[in-house]
Amino acid sequence: MTATQLGWIAGMVEGEGCITKNAKITVCSSDLDVLDKIASLWRTTVQPVKNYSQLSKKPMYRVAVGGKHGAGWLMTIWSLLGERRRTKAKEIIKHWLLLLPAPQDRTQCPSGHLYTLASTVRTRFGRGCRTCNNEARRLKRRAV
Ligand SMILES: [Zn+2]
Repeated sequence: MTATQLGWIAGMVEGEGCITKNAKITVCSSDLDVLDKIASLWRTTVQPVKNYSQLSKKPMYRVAVGGKHGAGWLMTIWSLLGERRRTKAKEIIKHWLLLLPAPQDRTQCPSGHLYTLASTVRTRFGRGCRTCNNEARRLKRRAV
């Protein structure tokens, strides 16, 4: 994932997306190629939207990511979103975190990487995910 791809995703969520409960991010469009690109970054698939509108002849599609993956993505693109969506994302992440097991009972990081001895690092906040840490460090380096 490059900083450019992240910025692009944030722009799509800002422009065409909606964020709903359970940390679900949905992007709707009639441009299948655009949604395909998002789907490959989110490692999911594009779904057709049924009964979208009788007025619009164009078929509509959507791509969605939810649960821990949605929350992970929300946290990742949060700083790139506009004020209104940021407020909404914060609310949803807060709610989603309340549904999580206690930190010592979690078996995976918010992005879904399993916690094993080899994939876990100590941070000043406690247990951290090596994969996410490395990714964050890489993005930071690239942004400079
Ligand atoms: Zn992780």
